[in-house]
Amino acid sequence: MATMIIEGERVGAVSGETYQVKDPATGEVVDEVPKGGPEDVDRAAKAAQRAQRTWGRLPAAERRRILHRAAEHMLSKVDEIAPILTREQGKTLLESRIEARRFGENIAWFGDLADKVHGEYVSLPDTGAFGLVIRRPIGVTGAIVPWNFPLTLAANKIAPSIAAGNCVVLKPATTTPLSTLKCVEALIEGGLPEGVVNVVLGPATGEAIVTHPLIRKVALTGSTPTGKRVMAAAAPHLKKVTLELGGSDPCIVLNDADLDAAAKAISTGRFFNCGQACLAIKRLYVQEGVFDALLERLVERAKRLKPGHGLDQATRMGPMHTADQRAEVEAQVQDAVARGAKIVYGGGRPEGPEYASGHFINPTILVDVPDDSRMVTEEVFGPALPVMRIKDLDEGIARANATNFGLGSSIWTSSMRAAHRAVLELEAGYTWVNALQVAHDELPFGGTKESGFGKEHGLEAFYQYTEQKSVVYGEL
Ligand code: NAD
Repeated sequence: MATMIIEGERVGAVSGETYQVKDPATGEVVDEVPKGGPEDVDRAAKAAQRAQRTWGRLPAAERRRILHRAAEHMLSKVDEIAPILTREQGKTLLESRIEARRFGENIAWFGDLADKVHGEYVSLPDTGAFGLVIRRPIGVTGAIVPWNFPLTLAANKIAPSIAAGNCVVLKPATTTPLSTLKCVEALIEGGLPEGVVNVVLGPATGEAIVTHPLIRKVALTGSTPTGKRVMAAAAPHLKKVTLELGGSDPCIVLNDADLDAAAKAISTGRFFNCGQACLAIKRLYVQEGVFDALLERLVERAKRLKPGHGLDQATRMGPMHTADQRAEVEAQVQDAVARGAKIVYGGGRPEGPEYASGHFINPTILVDVPDDSRMVTEEVFGPALPVMRIKDLDEGIARANATNFGLGSSIWTSSMRAAHRAVLELEAGYTWVNALQVAHDELPFGGTKESGFGKEHGLEAFYQYTEQKSVVYGEL
């Protein structure tokens, strides 16, 4: 049985309760884990606070060296960790390898920043005094992670936090704790001091992190309704929050686009991870002149996405993570069809004994999806793509922005003028122009509108794990 990681100990829940983690492709039990609660979060927060006194005071260059060694050790374990991620989450082994690598790379990327904290000198009216603005660690930070990219999204929070000298209480999603535990264990084996990252498990630990008085900042990746609850629960404690929430990313394709490149990127952008990605192309707006040609290419690509168990070499798309998630996507597709949409590829579930016990679904492409259907107004967190016809860029931008979400967005065109208009006018935290929707370590990532606020990735994320302090030196 797996355990939680709290300071130097590998522990069960104080309550003694446990729950099972199951394989989404077969329903088999993968492992049993502790079902922690507020008492366990309290232990972890106190452990993190103790560790922070030492970690936060280490010479920054030493923190950088420790993080690099730990990341390197973790990266040497990718082949061990990836199959565990596939078994608990469902994604293909290739997707798991990419994700496990991203965990280690992210720790190393922020590790490099550990000794590059800069402040400012500010002149003051009194010539005998001078002012400084310095940056300090915040203290203990909380990290709450969803199940779709358990490792990437944990690293996005842990890495900038510990590089800046904080310690962390991390809560993976209830259904995907195992690969996260392995990653954190590998960092500790690689030299990360015990207590710098503590892992608690169980559904009730999320709320306990948000309300724990020792935890000074909480970073959540999750759905928009969860983000609203977390923000409300953090308010009485005036706790800092970073909220990376749901999205319904629009993609606009104009008549002058490179259709082969666009089809490739859109197919990956929608169907990667069985469509369970926050940054995913969830609404496609195609100009009339290339509508049929692009659709044909997308259907050809969807045909190659063979569903199956993620550990099977032939699989190109794993199952959905839970039965509820699949039912939600199926209901959204049915709603669109009831309002007049047509399924041009997929729909339904794959048939055969190998699919009987898993949450499998076919990649699905629809046309004539009305703007008031659930597929357009809500986030579609699965492999179903509504393709909408537009007359021109004006219509594309207006319909792209007609949503409460504002996470990613993209445009395919060979016109610099059109691209630049989209960059300026699309209401989103990211716009890709003729490029695959991938978040880069170097660029700040985060949403606007109901997709949340605060940044992960980039220098901006690092600085959001520090606090500025003004200093006045008077007569010395
Ligand atoms: P979720 O909101 O149900 O859960 C996310 C995490 O929050 C889980 O660990 C959960 O246990 C915890 N949680 C739930 N309620 C809580 C509460 N009241 N207080 C504290 N913690 C609580 O999300 P999910 O279903 O696991 O993930 C899918 C959602 O995440 C989608 O909406 C997706 O778009 C979003 N997401 C966003 C990003 C991004 O970077 N913007 C990335 C990936 C996923």
